[in-house]
Amino acid sequence: MARTLITNIQVFDGTGRAPFAGEVLIEDNRIARVAATASEGRIEAADATVIDGAGATLMPGLIEAHAHLSWPSSIERFIPEFILPPEEQLLATVRNARVLLESGFTSAYSAGALGERIEVVVRNEIDGGWTPGPRLRASTIERSPEGENTGEIDHGRGPEAMKAFVKHCKTIGIDQVKLVISGEDALLPGSSQHILYTEEEVQAAGEQARESDIWLSAHTQAGEAIKMALRAGVRVLYHCTYADEEALDLLEAHKDEIFVAPAIGVIVATLEAKPPPHIDMTSMKEAAVPVVEKCKVLIPELKRRGVRVLPGGDYGFPFNPNGANARDLQHFVDLFGYTPTEALVAATKLGGELMGRADELGLVEPGYLADLLLVDGDPTQDVSILQRRDRLLMIMKDGKMHKAPAQPVARAAA
Ligand SMILES: [Zn+2]
Repeated sequence: MARTLITNIQVFDGTGRAPFAGEVLIEDNRIARVAATASEGRIEAADATVIDGAGATLMPGLIEAHAHLSWPSSIERFIPEFILPPEEQLLATVRNARVLLESGFTSAYSAGALGERIEVVVRNEIDGGWTPGPRLRASTIERSPEGENTGEIDHGRGPEAMKAFVKHCKTIGIDQVKLVISGEDALLPGSSQHILYTEEEVQAAGEQARESDIWLSAHTQAGEAIKMALRAGVRVLYHCTYADEEALDLLEAHKDEIFVAPAIGVIVATLEAKPPPHIDMTSMKEAAVPVVEKCKVLIPELKRRGVRVLPGGDYGFPFNPNGANARDLQHFVDLFGYTPTEALVAATKLGGELMGRADELGLVEPGYLADLLLVDGDPTQDVSILQRRDRLLMIMKDGKMHKAPAQPVARAAA
């Protein structure tokens, strides 16, 4: 059995408890012991490889709630186009998986892909250990009723077409299906208030999802879209900008089954973007202004009601690249009144719940998978340090070192 003892660290365990001086023992791919040095003393670990953390903070790997690995752009490579030929799209997706992991994200929950099976194959490669990347819950092409029929997927109207789509997604190995239930002002001004499906269609998707044991997520801006999604059993709701009082009550009533990710990152990035002259972002910028103002009120209210709100900001656009994902935590602090610790809990503990693996992902506790970051500094004081790759001294996923700390590593005396 491979044993690694990380010593001389501050442990942020993901529960919200303040960081404490401690040691963590990893056996194979799981955390075996966590000890607060002051009260529990040191961990006896003969034959363990010892990593001296030199006072850095050990924390759970970050979890991205709205990932788009197949959106081409990353902090490593600017790609102005969105839809690429399939070969380039696949390579970009593989690259972005590595970029996300190297940005501290050890899990990612997809909010849609630019190819039918592209995330399934990348997820399988990651799971097999053949390519680096976060644990990925894979999605497919986002389903909108006006969509083109792509590949084998039928985007036609009516309850039966919805059922066929969901069933097909299960067959090809998709983990969750994303429905675009209301439109998007950034793409078509005013369309956030358009409900794109009938009640029967969304209900049919929900029925088939339960029967096929597959999850649903949805792009929901309008209040009615949120209610429709919740009535049908949608598990993850994106945006929710125009939630009215009735939608808020319904979100609260379902708080133990659902998650909300506002995707504020793309909104802030839209407002900040300085596009080259040949790209006109005027209407996108106009659409983004009210979203920030709405979310500043909405998100604290959802939090007050106990709804699980997660960072995850639609990264992958040229102006909002993959790898910048940790910015969302800072936005939660700056715009939504979260403390850094609350933002960290949302991106770790709640992320584990989002992944459906609350018993083994998102915390530094015995029995949990060893998805760990060693951070130079204290992110509970300043979450912005997570945006700097040079401050991520160690990135471990599933007990395997993706980025090893620079300090010499010693083998403990037996
Ligand atoms: Zn998105």
